[in-house]
Amino acid sequence: MVSFYPGPSRVYDAIPAYVKDAVKEGIVSMNHRSPEFIALAKKTDRLLKQKLSIPKNYTIFYASSATECWEILAQSLSGEKSYHLFNGAFGKKWFDYTVALKHQAEGILFSREEALHPEEYVFPYQQALICLTQNETSNGTQVSNDILKRFRVNNRDAIIAVDATSSMAGIFLDFKQADVWFASVQKCFGLPAGLAVMVCSPKAIERVRHINERLHYNSLPAMVNMMEIWQTTHTPNVLAIYLLMRVMEKQENIRAIHKQTQTRFNQWKDFLQKQKNLNLLIENTAVQSYTVLPITADPKDVSLVKAKAKKAGFLLGEGYGDLKPTTFRIANFPALQTKEIKALQKFLSELKTK
Ligand SMILES: *Cc1c(COP(=O)(O)O)cnc(C)c1O
Repeated sequence: MVSFYPGPSRVYDAIPAYVKDAVKEGIVSMNHRSPEFIALAKKTDRLLKQKLSIPKNYTIFYASSATECWEILAQSLSGEKSYHLFNGAFGKKWFDYTVALKHQAEGILFSREEALHPEEYVFPYQQALICLTQNETSNGTQVSNDILKRFRVNNRDAIIAVDATSSMAGIFLDFKQADVWFASVQKCFGLPAGLAVMVCSPKAIERVRHINERLHYNSLPAMVNMMEIWQTTHTPNVLAIYLLMRVMEKQENIRAIHKQTQTRFNQWKDFLQKQKNLNLLIENTAVQSYTVLPITADPKDVSLVKAKAKKAGFLLGEGYGDLKPTTFRIANFPALQTKEIKALQKFLSELKTK
């Protein structure tokens, strides 16, 4: 079975061998205060920065999931006010979790075919946290690096936080243009679930220190203090960090990965154009996600695809929420192989003739 589910998704073929190595090398029993762990943490930090083009002066933290990152930010960085701009289910969930802790959070809905105009968002609370979902996995839309950059212009003192769960390590992200970026690793990283990385700018760290929220085990000031000595507040998922390090070691630079993702995305679009009964849900080319493709079709074709795909060896993503009867989703993550994509396209093109 090949998983085209947009997370958890297909993992890299080398994962079983890396897990074996981890057992052999004692990684699975490694003490998280030991010099060996510190060496692993340093190496992983260096590789992530090098391969993903993350600025050297940013700090990388570990959490267990993107959901945990939402809560960490609500607790420790939302301060007096946070603004959540969203057009889909994940952005809304982030807002909902934040409102539960901080009633002064504000949600701003935009439509999924709309490219944001940052000039329209000049926020009254200057020291706010602005929350954006770079790649909305539920509907296959994305916010470009350029748009993110323009949010800074009118909101110089704000901290800009970006959920890049289904795009980090799959496309080029301009980390300089925001203060906090996070992703769990079961999507574009091609790893098993159970780990998230959160990347913070020096300005974000400064704000964390200023707000100084210390009520939780995962309050950011404590995480900052521990990461200064390459450690975590609690026993982390050492095996997952090791697997991340091994995958990053082998990984090409993000510019090369981005090129492949974009080429494959364009190839998917060409393919869909030739299918009478299948269309990309999102029409505005300026906001189409490169890594998650929601495909819309007649409800009876969607049912047919769903019924037959599993038997043919493909796991596809369900449509999200009210899109469920008329869409299915396909991941375009780097761990997928060209021959697997070809095989899925063959399956989809033959289905229509029946
Ligand atoms: C998958 C996903 C999440 C949730 O990730 P978890 O690791 O399950 O917490 C959050 N945001 C986006 C955009 C996602 O795609």
